[in-house]
Amino acid sequence: MQMKNILILGGGFGGVYTAMHLEKMLRPEQARISLVNTENYFVYQPMLPEVISGSISTTDVVSPIKRLCPRTRLIMREVEKIDLDRKVVTVSRGFRPRRLELPYDYLVIALGTVTNFYGMPGMVEHAMPFRTLSHALMLRNHVIHALEEADVETDKELRRKLLTFVVAGGGFSGVEVIAELNDFVRTAARSYPQIRPEEIRCVLVHSGDRILPEMTAGLANFAQDLLRERGVEIVLNDRLKAASSEKAILRSGTEIPTKAIVSTAPSCLPDVLERLSCAKSGGRLTTNGELALVSYEGQVWVVGDCAASTTKSGNRVPPTAQHATRAAKTVARNVTAAMQGSRPRVFDFEGLGKLASLGHHSAVADVLGMRLSGFPAWFLWRTVYLLKMPGLDRKVRIGADWFSALLFPPDQVQLKILTASSIAQQHFEPGEIVFSEGDLGDSVYVIRAGECEVLRETARGPQRLAVLRQGDYFGEMAVLSDASRNATVRAVSALEVLVISKPMFDMLKANVPVFRDVFQGLADQRAALD
Ligand SMILES: Cc1cc2nc3c(=O)[nH]c(=O)nc-3n(C[C@H](O)[C@H](O)[C@H](O)COP(=O)(O)OP(=O)(O)OC[C@H]3O[C@@H](n4cnc5c(N)ncnc54)[C@H](O)[C@@H]3O)c2cc1C
Repeated sequence: MQMKNILILGGGFGGVYTAMHLEKMLRPEQARISLVNTENYFVYQPMLPEVISGSISTTDVVSPIKRLCPRTRLIMREVEKIDLDRKVVTVSRGFRPRRLELPYDYLVIALGTVTNFYGMPGMVEHAMPFRTLSHALMLRNHVIHALEEADVETDKELRRKLLTFVVAGGGFSGVEVIAELNDFVRTAARSYPQIRPEEIRCVLVHSGDRILPEMTAGLANFAQDLLRERGVEIVLNDRLKAASSEKAILRSGTEIPTKAIVSTAPSCLPDVLERLSCAKSGGRLTTNGELALVSYEGQVWVVGDCAASTTKSGNRVPPTAQHATRAAKTVARNVTAAMQGSRPRVFDFEGLGKLASLGHHSAVADVLGMRLSGFPAWFLWRTVYLLKMPGLDRKVRIGADWFSALLFPPDQVQLKILTASSIAQQHFEPGEIVFSEGDLGDSVYVIRAGECEVLRETARGPQRLAVLRQGDYFGEMAVLSDASRNATVRAVSALEVLVISKPMFDMLKANVPVFRDVFQGLADQRAALD
């Protein structure tokens, strides 16, 4: 059998488990397995809320993908385009500003979903989703920062905003986030002498008439009562509509003064899948019972949260990790079946049950017909999720984290994370290339000091088109036309440049007419000389 290229998009539960199963089912000479993910690690989302309080340390909740599936080639890039007809996936640039095209024989799409802020003013700027490690870290840092500030702040109104935390969405993730947040804020606040417990507000906003709609009314009411007892305010039958830097605005018109808004709902497909022209239902990619993308059977499969699938008995497959991991096994079997020309299997996993942690030694569980609440459910929650955590080293580390959390108060260290700036400074030595002909147009440059030359490749070798000096700009033509560079720029002397990234350039162009006119004029002039 000829060696086949299997390409998996996404390194979450769906993607990583598909790769793990394929590695077991196929020999190395049968298939080359590649996986594209924006990070080189897999995030164990069910335990992510515990990063807020630090009861699980930051890197213990993630596992390196290479260790989980050592035979799979990891491509740490962003998927930008999927061409189902040409059977090619385009991924973003790396250090070298060139896109990479990845051809495939079999494709598995497992890109999950993203939080949808469409039509909700101010949410992109002022609300935080909660899905990734950086979201958990940002929230933890924000909470610690807010406590530090509130401790020295004398303005009553500002103190109120700093000490109010709003979480939108009363599903599993929203409930687990508010429970963990509430525990952490109230415990950590004891170290701040100027903060009184009654000043702290943790608010959960949910659109239904009870939280945890996936659970029985009895368990949901237990969770609701327990959270209220611990000081969480629960706002029902309302939803977050908009946000500003000063408040959360609900559909009912209620305004909650706050500096911290977390939104766990609603969700939608990542952009690259929104743009994909294929069958969709309920905003997800439609699969058949064998988890193949409709109209691309035998070539493309969809697994995890981005799939609209039903089980053998006709039930909709819910967006949970337990379903994504089982669906991954079915997909791996069906990819193997397609390679071997055998019959694919139908997905028939109906779920083992539901568990939600309520923090502080409490949870609710509805597992294999058993309904538990309080400590037994919490014990079950921890046991199940610890056993399910992939990798022995992570299990041991998390066990150790939990043990130390029993002995010591929560850690309040705020890790300052450097965020990538959209405008940066760069230095080039004489002879060094700033960018090459054919590279992606991903930035515009302004010369602060020094000189560079613009070169174009011709049949007779490189031809010098211009020399640029302090105050000159370059690189705008490819950015404005969204094309590749049509020339190479090389430093002639020591060169200092200001680099404006494409997203920042686009934002300035859209909002500052003078900026747009200057660069458009320059690009037109240069195009005329070409
Ligand atoms: C806080 C929280 C708690 C949860 N608790 C539970 C629980 O207790 N039990 C349970 O069963 N489920 C739980 N879930 C749900 C569960 O985590 C998801 O159902 C599961 O992660 C879905 O797996 P997936 O592979 O479809 O998506 P994901 O795990 O989200 O993986 C998608 C991957 O694709 C990557 N990606 C996306 N777009 C691109 C792109 N363009 N290019 C490259 N890579 C890309 C992402 O970075 C990510 O790594 C929880 C979810 C959250 C957020």
